[in-house]
Amino acid sequence: MDSRQPARERSGVTLRLVPRAGQDSAGGDEPAGTRKEPAGARSFRRYPLWRVLALNGLTLGHYLVGGAAILAAYRDYPIVGWPLGMAYLVFAMVQLYVLMPQVVCPGCVYRTIRDGRCPSGLNLISARLAPPAASAVEFGQRTHGALCQSSLCLWSWLLPVPLALPGLALSFSWTAATLTAVVAVLAVARMTVVARVAVCPHCLARRWCAAASARRAVPARPAA
Ligand code: SF4
Repeated sequence: MDSRQPARERSGVTLRLVPRAGQDSAGGDEPAGTRKEPAGARSFRRYPLWRVLALNGLTLGHYLVGGAAILAAYRDYPIVGWPLGMAYLVFAMVQLYVLMPQVVCPGCVYRTIRDGRCPSGLNLISARLAPPAASAVEFGQRTHGALCQSSLCLWSWLLPVPLALPGLALSFSWTAATLTAVVAVLAVARMTVVARVAVCPHCLARRWCAAASARRAVPARPAA
C-alpha cells in the first residue's frame, strides 16, 4: 500500500490516529482539561521546510561535534580515537536515518497523511524504506525497553560524553573539553527546550507519543 494513500482507506489503530479536518490545532480531540501545550500551539500536517531543515541541521551538527569531541579527546591516541569516533557517527546516523524509519515511523500518523511531513521529515524516508504498518504498535513501542528507539536516540545525543572522558583523563586538552561540554549542553537543550517548545507542541503524533507525554511532566526522552 502506498504511504500516501488516504487515511480513510487504512485500517486498524492507525486510522483513528488521523485527525479529522479542522482538528489539526493543538489539543484537537483531547479531553477537556488535559491539554498541556502552550495556548495557540498549532499542529502541522506538513511541517514547514525550514523547520525540518533546521532540526536536521541541528541533529547533524550535534553528531559532528560529538565525533569531533571524541577525536580531540584521543588526539594522542589516534588508533583509539578514530575507530571510536567513526563508530559513534555510524551508530548515530544509522539509528536515526535507517532504523527509525523502518522500525517506528511505519506506525506513525504521519505515514497516513497525504503530503504530510513530520518534524524531522523521516516519514518521507520511511515511505521509501518500509511499507506502512497496519497498526500503531511499532510507534507505541518506541519508548519500551532499554534498547528501544527512543533510548537509542537519547544515546546518540549523549554518548560522546562518556566516550570522550577517558581520553580527556589520559591527555587533557581545552579543545576536547569544550567540545565535550558543547555536546552535553546540546543534549540538555534539545530535551528541555527544542523538543518542548519547537517540536512536540506542533507534532500530530504527540497525542499518542509516550515520550511527549513524559516530557510534559519532566524532561525525558527525545522525539525524532
Ligand atoms: S514524527 Fe517521528 S515517528 Fe512519526 S514519521 Fe516523523 S520521525 Fe517517524
